[in-house]
Amino acid sequence: MIGERLSGRCLCGECRFEARVLKSHADACHCGMCRRWGGGPSLGVEVADLEFDPGAPLLIYRSSEWAERISCVRCGSGLAFRMIDGSFANVPLAVFDPPLDLPLTVEIFIDEKPSGYAFAGSTQKMTGAEVMAAFAGREA
Ligand SMILES: [Zn+2]
Ligand SMILES: [Zn+2]
Repeated sequence: MIGERLSGRCLCGECRFEARVLKSHADACHCGMCRRWGGGPSLGVEVADLEFDPGAPLLIYRSSEWAERISCVRCGSGLAFRMIDGSFANVPLAVFDPPLDLPLTVEIFIDEKPSGYAFAGSTQKMTGAEVMAAFAGREA
């Protein structure tokens, strides 16, 4: 599973991609940007070598100084979050084909999670500050 090259697509099918899955577990992000972008917390997996089919109608939105979010222009599906420098990319489990069913083990930006929902099961929970510190450590 880890290192396997998997394919996926948006809802309308115009945007197809392949990516190498780097983890055997899923992360949830509760940050306000993910929730506004996707209408709820994101549930994704870290990937490498994310490649879209040539001509895919992608909307690439620069959501911060260091990251961008990729959607389909036609159907609006959210397909990926990635660092501009290429150091990290995360793809929602649901847009793989078939959708990935990985155990949720990490929840990030837990300090931004609204109180109205919670995932069952035990997970590692990280605040936004802890996530930022972990990323800074990776780049060093
Ligand atoms: Zn689409
Ligand atoms: Zn987020």
